[in-house]
Amino acid sequence: MTSFSAVDVISTKRDGGVLSDEAISWLFDAYMKGDVADEQMSALLMAVFFNGMAPGELRTWTQRMIDSGERLDLSGLTRPTVDKHSTGGVGDKISLILAPLVAACGAAVPQLSGRGLGHTGGTLDKLETIPGWRAELSNDEIRAQLENVGAVICAAGQGLAPVDRRLYALRDVTGTVESIPLISSSIMSKKIAEGTSSLVLDVKVGRGAFIKDPGRARELAETMVALGTAHGVKTVAQLTNMDAPLGRAVGNAMEVTESVEVLKGAGPHDVRELTLGLARIMVELAGLDVDPEEKLDDGSAFDVYGQMIRAQGGDSDATLATAKFHETIVAPRAGVVQQVDALRVGVAAWRLGAGRARKEDPVSAAAGVLCLVREGDVVAANEPIFELHADDMSHIVLGRTAIESALVIGDDTVVPLPMLIERIG
Ligand code: URA
Repeated sequence: MTSFSAVDVISTKRDGGVLSDEAISWLFDAYMKGDVADEQMSALLMAVFFNGMAPGELRTWTQRMIDSGERLDLSGLTRPTVDKHSTGGVGDKISLILAPLVAACGAAVPQLSGRGLGHTGGTLDKLETIPGWRAELSNDEIRAQLENVGAVICAAGQGLAPVDRRLYALRDVTGTVESIPLISSSIMSKKIAEGTSSLVLDVKVGRGAFIKDPGRARELAETMVALGTAHGVKTVAQLTNMDAPLGRAVGNAMEVTESVEVLKGAGPHDVRELTLGLARIMVELAGLDVDPEEKLDDGSAFDVYGQMIRAQGGDSDATLATAKFHETIVAPRAGVVQQVDALRVGVAAWRLGAGRARKEDPVSAAAGVLCLVREGDVVAANEPIFELHADDMSHIVLGRTAIESALVIGDDTVVPLPMLIERIG
């Protein structure tokens, strides 16, 4: 392989140039071998943050990230494969309902997921509140479960795009997370390596989203759709609203309970609307002619959920953990709920113990926030608006401070925005 100088590669990007395919191949190889230092890679990431990447350059960057590890082989399954990725939201428990629902429609859903960091929860943290449930599966177990049950939600193995793990850790501590090419290549390298044939990206926009501006969210969606398509994965993105938390429950076990309610045909309307909207796209991409709403309402999706949990050792009928301490927050005045701020509610759930600040921190199963009212609801003074749950009284105090001003009450009528904003691809 041609050898390059790390300083030359950094300077090229710093000056707005485009890295050649050979330079990118050399860079990742040298970085993984320890010949490019973390401080040099950090400087390069900052140069990409400011100067972006050309489309062809980003395709090669992503391809080399995939090549840094293994690619799961899901060919040979009798069901078409289709997955979903969300850019992260507050109360986002959609995967727990969507994976079994789309499996009930006849597809295989390989949801290789991560744990939560910051104010957004992780799917694995939620499922780990179910006694006995196991997140770590071998590749053979993943394939067998996809064939037999149709849905797997498990930890993404260390072998998928390993260079991303190192780059992401660097970005986290160097202020270079919020870059469209870096986010796109990070997400898409893992999803492409996972081996799915088609993919729906739920790109969140709004107060509780990673990217708050609709224009930038659209650019992120278009970049990821182009990358997926260029790598042979049928990819569609759906921009969805993340101004307010999804559903009522924000916290690990509480979100599992709410997901089961939706799987049983009840639960909050917004969770059902978003799940069905994404399920319809997934079924279309998988080439199936089935109405997901029927599979939700006739109990098929709930049956698959039970099978999916039991296949990974979980007791799907178990009573989940509840918190020792509770506090109810009441409305300071009468009026109409103008706003429930997803970010503030997410931060409150985090302070209550539901989230982690560093990836090695433990999370509480039972902690979280129950949102008792939604945007547009009419409330009386002193009516309960939030319920805080924690294992420790000191966390209740932190949660109470964090949730202050999360809810705005006024006099105007409010019509909540639809969940599905725009489809791309
Ligand atoms: N999620 C990822 O996997 N990577 C990013 O860069 C951002 C969110």
